[in-house]
Amino acid sequence: MKTAIITGGATGIGASVSAILAENGYNCVISYNTSEERAFALSSKCNSLNFSTVPFRCDVTNSADVDNLFKFTVEKFGKVDLVVSNAGVAEQKLITEISDNDWDKMLAVNLTGCFNCCRAAARVMVPLHSGNIINISSMWGIAGASCEVHYSASKAGVIGLTKALAKELAPSNIRVNCIAPGVIMTDMLKGFSLNELEELRDATPLSRLGTPDDIAEAVLFLSSDKASFITGQVLSVDGGFIL
Ligand code: NAP
Repeated sequence: MKTAIITGGATGIGASVSAILAENGYNCVISYNTSEERAFALSSKCNSLNFSTVPFRCDVTNSADVDNLFKFTVEKFGKVDLVVSNAGVAEQKLITEISDNDWDKMLAVNLTGCFNCCRAAARVMVPLHSGNIINISSMWGIAGASCEVHYSASKAGVIGLTKALAKELAPSNIRVNCIAPGVIMTDMLKGFSLNELEELRDATPLSRLGTPDDIAEAVLFLSSDKASFITGQVLSVDGGFIL
Protein backbone atom coordinates (compact mmCIF):
# COMPACT_ATOMS: atom_id res chain seq x y z
CA MET A 1 0.00 0.00 0.00
CA LYS A 2 1.31 3.46 -0.89
CA THR A 3 1.49 6.34 1.57
CA ALA A 4 0.81 10.01 0.89
CA ILE A 5 1.29 13.18 2.92
CA ILE A 6 -1.06 16.05 2.02
CA THR A 7 -0.27 19.43 3.56
CA GLY A 8 -3.28 21.67 4.07
CA GLY A 9 -5.07 18.34 3.76
CA ALA A 10 -8.13 19.16 5.86
CA THR A 11 -9.76 21.92 3.82
CA GLY A 12 -10.62 22.89 0.25
CA ILE A 13 -8.38 21.39 -2.43
CA GLY A 14 -6.32 19.47 0.13
CA ALA A 15 -9.40 17.79 1.63
CA SER A 16 -10.48 16.63 -1.79
CA VAL A 17 -6.97 15.35 -2.55
CA SER A 18 -6.88 13.49 0.79
CA ALA A 19 -10.27 11.87 0.14
CA ILE A 20 -9.54 10.86 -3.47
CA LEU A 21 -6.10 9.44 -2.65
CA ALA A 22 -7.56 7.51 0.31
CA GLU A 23 -10.33 6.17 -1.93
CA ASN A 24 -7.64 5.04 -4.37
CA GLY A 25 -5.78 2.99 -1.83
CA TYR A 26 -3.26 5.38 -0.28
CA ASN A 27 -2.58 5.61 3.42
CA CYS A 28 -3.11 9.34 3.81
CA VAL A 29 -1.55 11.58 6.42
CA ILE A 30 -3.90 14.55 6.51
CA SER A 31 -1.63 17.34 7.62
CA TYR A 32 -3.34 20.42 9.08
CA ASN A 33 -2.24 23.53 10.92
CA THR A 34 -5.28 25.23 12.48
CA SER A 35 -8.18 23.13 11.10
CA GLU A 36 -7.95 20.37 13.70
CA GLU A 37 -11.68 19.66 13.86
CA ARG A 38 -12.00 19.41 10.08
CA ALA A 39 -8.92 17.17 9.88
CA PHE A 40 -10.28 14.75 12.47
CA ALA A 41 -13.78 14.80 10.93
CA LEU A 42 -12.41 14.09 7.44
CA SER A 43 -10.18 11.32 8.72
CA SER A 44 -13.07 9.70 10.66
CA LYS A 45 -15.33 9.88 7.61
CA CYS A 46 -12.65 8.27 5.40
CA ASN A 47 -11.85 5.58 7.94
CA SER A 48 -15.56 4.73 8.36
CA LEU A 49 -15.41 3.79 4.66
CA ASN A 50 -12.47 1.50 5.44
CA PHE A 51 -9.90 3.90 4.03
CA SER A 52 -6.62 4.47 5.87
CA THR A 53 -6.07 8.04 7.01
CA VAL A 54 -4.61 9.83 10.00
CA PRO A 55 -4.58 13.54 10.90
CA PHE A 56 -1.32 15.17 11.96
CA ARG A 57 -0.62 18.78 12.92
CA CYS A 58 2.21 20.57 11.14
CA ASP A 59 3.00 24.20 10.47
CA VAL A 60 4.85 24.01 7.13
CA THR A 61 6.78 27.21 7.87
CA ASN A 62 8.51 25.38 10.73
CA SER A 63 11.10 22.91 9.42
CA ALA A 64 11.15 20.98 12.72
CA ASP A 65 7.37 20.49 12.41
CA VAL A 66 7.80 19.25 8.84
CA ASP A 67 10.58 16.87 9.85
CA ASN A 68 8.27 15.53 12.61
CA LEU A 69 5.50 15.01 10.06
CA PHE A 70 7.78 12.85 7.94
CA LYS A 71 9.19 10.99 10.96
CA PHE A 72 5.65 10.23 12.15
CA THR A 73 4.63 9.01 8.68
CA VAL A 74 7.64 6.72 8.26
CA GLU A 75 7.16 5.30 11.76
CA LYS A 76 3.46 4.66 11.13
CA PHE A 77 3.45 3.50 7.50
CA GLY A 78 7.08 2.56 6.74
CA LYS A 79 7.72 5.00 3.89
CA VAL A 80 6.46 8.05 2.00
CA ASP A 81 5.53 7.46 -1.65
CA LEU A 82 3.79 10.74 -2.42
CA VAL A 83 3.91 14.26 -1.04
CA VAL A 84 1.31 16.82 -2.07
CA SER A 85 2.59 20.23 -0.99
CA ASN A 86 -0.69 22.12 -0.99
CA ALA A 87 -0.66 24.38 2.09
CA GLY A 88 -0.95 28.00 1.08
CA VAL A 89 -2.28 31.43 1.91
CA ALA A 90 -3.50 34.24 -0.34
CA GLU A 91 -4.08 37.97 0.05
CA GLN A 92 -5.09 40.85 -2.24
CA LYS A 93 -3.23 44.12 -1.67
CA LEU A 94 -1.62 46.92 -3.65
CA ILE A 95 2.17 46.60 -3.56
CA THR A 96 2.31 49.88 -1.65
CA GLU A 97 0.16 48.31 1.10
CA ILE A 98 2.16 45.07 1.43
CA SER A 99 4.10 45.26 4.70
CA ASP A 100 7.40 43.48 5.37
CA ASN A 101 5.40 41.10 7.53
CA ASP A 102 2.81 40.41 4.78
CA TRP A 103 5.62 39.60 2.35
CA ASP A 104 7.50 37.40 4.82
CA LYS A 105 4.37 35.46 5.80
CA MET A 106 3.36 34.82 2.19
CA LEU A 107 6.81 33.56 1.24
CA ALA A 108 7.13 31.57 4.48
CA VAL A 109 3.97 29.53 3.89
CA ASN A 110 3.82 29.27 0.11
CA LEU A 111 7.50 28.95 -0.80
CA THR A 112 9.53 28.07 2.29
CA GLY A 113 6.77 25.66 3.33
CA CYS A 114 7.00 23.94 -0.04
CA PHE A 115 10.81 23.85 0.23
CA ASN A 116 10.62 22.35 3.74
CA CYS A 117 8.33 19.59 2.47
CA CYS A 118 10.37 18.89 -0.66
CA ARG A 119 13.61 18.68 1.34
CA ALA A 120 12.08 16.32 3.90
CA ALA A 121 10.62 14.26 1.05
CA ALA A 122 13.99 13.99 -0.71
CA ARG A 123 15.64 12.84 2.52
CA VAL A 124 13.28 9.86 2.81
CA MET A 125 12.76 9.13 -0.91
CA VAL A 126 16.30 9.28 -2.34
CA PRO A 127 17.62 6.31 -0.31
CA LEU A 128 14.63 4.25 -1.57
CA HIS A 129 15.17 5.40 -5.17
CA SER A 130 11.44 6.01 -5.50
CA GLY A 131 8.90 8.76 -4.90
CA ASN A 132 6.57 11.36 -6.23
CA ILE A 133 6.20 15.03 -5.30
CA ILE A 134 3.35 17.28 -6.45
CA ASN A 135 3.42 20.96 -5.59
CA ILE A 136 0.32 23.14 -5.81
CA SER A 137 1.20 26.46 -7.43
CA SER A 138 -1.35 28.73 -9.10
CA MET A 139 -2.16 30.17 -12.52
CA TRP A 140 -1.01 33.47 -10.99
CA GLY A 141 2.46 31.96 -10.57
CA ILE A 142 2.52 31.71 -14.38
CA ALA A 143 0.69 34.87 -15.41
CA GLY A 144 1.00 37.21 -12.42
CA ALA A 145 -2.05 38.75 -10.73
CA SER A 146 -2.58 42.45 -10.19
CA CYS A 147 -2.74 43.28 -6.46
CA GLU A 148 -1.18 39.90 -5.63
CA VAL A 149 2.52 40.58 -6.12
CA HIS A 150 3.56 38.58 -3.05
CA TYR A 151 1.21 35.67 -3.85
CA SER A 152 2.25 35.57 -7.51
CA ALA A 153 5.95 35.72 -6.63
CA SER A 154 5.60 32.89 -4.11
CA LYS A 155 3.74 30.70 -6.59
CA ALA A 156 6.23 31.47 -9.40
CA GLY A 157 8.89 30.39 -6.90
CA VAL A 158 7.10 27.06 -6.46
CA ILE A 159 7.30 26.52 -10.24
CA GLY A 160 11.05 27.28 -10.29
CA LEU A 161 11.62 25.00 -7.32
CA THR A 162 9.64 22.20 -9.00
CA LYS A 163 11.61 22.37 -12.25
CA ALA A 164 15.00 22.47 -10.54
CA LEU A 165 14.13 19.65 -8.18
CA ALA A 166 12.71 17.52 -10.99
CA LYS A 167 16.14 17.61 -12.66
CA GLU A 168 17.97 16.94 -9.41
CA LEU A 169 15.80 14.00 -8.35
CA ALA A 170 15.12 12.34 -11.73
CA PRO A 171 18.27 10.18 -11.44
CA SER A 172 16.85 8.95 -8.12
CA ASN A 173 13.63 7.87 -9.87
CA ILE A 174 11.61 10.60 -8.14
CA ARG A 175 9.17 12.66 -10.20
CA VAL A 176 8.41 16.26 -9.23
CA ASN A 177 5.51 18.09 -10.84
CA CYS A 178 3.38 21.08 -10.21
CA ILE A 179 -0.30 21.90 -10.68
CA ALA A 180 -1.43 25.44 -11.45
CA PRO A 181 -5.10 25.71 -10.46
CA GLY A 182 -7.37 28.39 -11.84
CA VAL A 183 -10.22 29.80 -9.77
CA ILE A 184 -11.33 27.00 -7.45
CA MET A 185 -14.30 27.31 -5.10
CA THR A 186 -12.77 27.03 -1.62
CA ASP A 187 -12.47 29.16 1.53
CA MET A 188 -9.66 30.98 -0.23
CA LEU A 189 -12.29 32.83 -2.28
CA LYS A 190 -14.43 33.86 0.68
CA GLY A 191 -13.29 37.49 0.43
CA PHE A 192 -14.68 37.75 -3.12
CA SER A 193 -18.15 39.21 -3.78
CA LEU A 194 -20.69 37.36 -5.94
CA ASN A 195 -20.06 39.91 -8.68
CA GLU A 196 -16.32 39.29 -8.60
CA LEU A 197 -16.87 35.53 -8.73
CA GLU A 198 -19.16 35.98 -11.74
CA GLU A 199 -16.48 38.06 -13.45
CA LEU A 200 -13.92 35.34 -12.79
CA ARG A 201 -16.31 32.72 -14.17
CA ASP A 202 -16.89 34.84 -17.28
CA ALA A 203 -13.11 35.16 -17.76
CA THR A 204 -12.81 31.36 -17.71
CA PRO A 205 -13.22 29.93 -21.25
CA LEU A 206 -14.98 26.81 -19.92
CA SER A 207 -17.51 29.16 -18.23
CA ARG A 208 -17.41 27.74 -14.75
CA LEU A 209 -15.35 27.98 -11.60
CA GLY A 210 -13.26 24.95 -10.68
CA THR A 211 -13.96 22.50 -7.88
CA PRO A 212 -11.48 20.94 -5.46
CA ASP A 213 -12.17 17.60 -7.18
CA ASP A 214 -10.92 19.05 -10.49
CA ILE A 215 -7.52 19.49 -8.84
CA ALA A 216 -7.63 16.22 -6.91
CA GLU A 217 -8.21 14.25 -10.14
CA ALA A 218 -5.12 15.91 -11.64
CA VAL A 219 -3.12 14.96 -8.54
CA LEU A 220 -4.34 11.38 -8.87
CA PHE A 221 -3.24 11.28 -12.51
CA LEU A 222 0.22 12.79 -11.85
CA SER A 223 0.75 10.43 -8.93
CA SER A 224 -0.13 7.37 -11.02
CA ASP A 225 2.03 5.20 -13.26
CA LYS A 226 0.06 6.63 -16.19
CA ALA A 227 2.23 9.73 -15.66
CA SER A 228 5.48 7.78 -15.24
CA PHE A 229 7.28 9.74 -18.02
CA ILE A 230 6.14 13.15 -16.77
CA THR A 231 8.40 15.23 -14.55
CA GLY A 232 9.22 18.90 -14.09
CA GLN A 233 5.90 19.97 -15.60
CA VAL A 234 3.31 22.56 -14.68
CA LEU A 235 -0.16 21.16 -15.32
CA SER A 236 -2.71 23.96 -15.63
CA VAL A 237 -6.15 23.00 -14.34
CA ASP A 238 -7.89 26.31 -14.92
CA GLY A 239 -10.67 25.91 -17.47
CA GLY A 240 -8.48 27.61 -20.06
CA PHE A 241 -8.04 30.84 -18.05
CA ILE A 242 -4.33 31.16 -18.90
CA LEU A 243 -3.77 30.40 -22.58
P1 NAP B 1 -7.87 26.71 1.76
O1 NAP B 1 -9.04 25.83 1.97
O2 NAP B 1 -7.81 28.02 2.45
O3 NAP B 1 -6.58 25.84 2.08
C1 NAP B 1 -5.36 26.38 2.48
C2 NAP B 1 -4.71 25.33 3.34
O4 NAP B 1 -3.39 25.74 3.66
C3 NAP B 1 -5.45 25.09 4.66
O5 NAP B 1 -5.81 23.73 4.78
C4 NAP B 1 -4.45 25.50 5.74
O6 NAP B 1 -4.41 24.62 6.86
C5 NAP B 1 -3.14 25.36 4.99
N1 NAP B 1 -2.14 26.23 5.60
C6 NAP B 1 -2.08 27.58 5.61
N2 NAP B 1 -1.00 28.00 6.34
C7 NAP B 1 -0.38 26.87 6.77
C8 NAP B 1 0.78 26.63 7.54
N3 NAP B 1 1.54 27.63 8.03
N4 NAP B 1 1.13 25.34 7.79
C9 NAP B 1 0.38 24.31 7.31
N5 NAP B 1 -0.73 24.48 6.59
C10 NAP B 1 -1.10 25.75 6.32
O7 NAP B 1 -7.71 27.07 0.21
P2 NAP B 1 -7.44 26.15 -1.07
O8 NAP B 1 -8.00 26.88 -2.21
O9 NAP B 1 -7.84 24.75 -0.84
O10 NAP B 1 -5.84 26.25 -1.20
C11 NAP B 1 -5.01 25.12 -1.36
C12 NAP B 1 -3.83 25.48 -2.27
O11 NAP B 1 -4.33 25.76 -3.58
C13 NAP B 1 -3.07 26.73 -1.82
O12 NAP B 1 -1.68 26.51 -1.99
C14 NAP B 1 -3.54 27.79 -2.80
O13 NAP B 1 -2.61 28.81 -2.98
C15 NAP B 1 -3.74 26.95 -4.06
N6 NAP B 1 -4.62 27.58 -5.04
C16 NAP B 1 -5.93 27.84 -4.77
C17 NAP B 1 -6.71 28.44 -5.73
C18 NAP B 1 -8.17 28.75 -5.50
O14 NAP B 1 -8.78 29.45 -6.35
N7 NAP B 1 -8.80 28.26 -4.44
C19 NAP B 1 -6.15 28.80 -6.98
C20 NAP B 1 -4.81 28.53 -7.21
C21 NAP B 1 -4.04 27.91 -6.25
P3 NAP B 1 -5.28 24.89 8.20
O15 NAP B 1 -6.66 25.27 7.74
O16 NAP B 1 -5.22 23.60 8.93
O17 NAP B 1 -4.59 26.00 8.95
